[in-house]
Amino acid sequence: MTTYKRNVCFGCGRPITPYEAAVHFPCPSCGDVTIWRCERCREMGKEYRCLKCEFSGP
Ligand SMILES: [Zn+2]
Ligand SMILES: [Zn+2]
Repeated sequence: MTTYKRNVCFGCGRPITPYEAAVHFPCPSCGDVTIWRCERCREMGKEYRCLKCEFSGP
């Protein structure tokens, strides 16, 4: 089983712990990149940017 890739929030660059209410979802544009957002960035509606296609959104 592949473990735990280091998941980093795409909004603030902070590593995401399993204990917070972070969300992850495939990039809405290319679908190849899993976007992670920490609890705080979610609440603040901070922007993220996809590493591959540079799609950004709230
Ligand atoms: Zn964040
Ligand atoms: Zn993308």
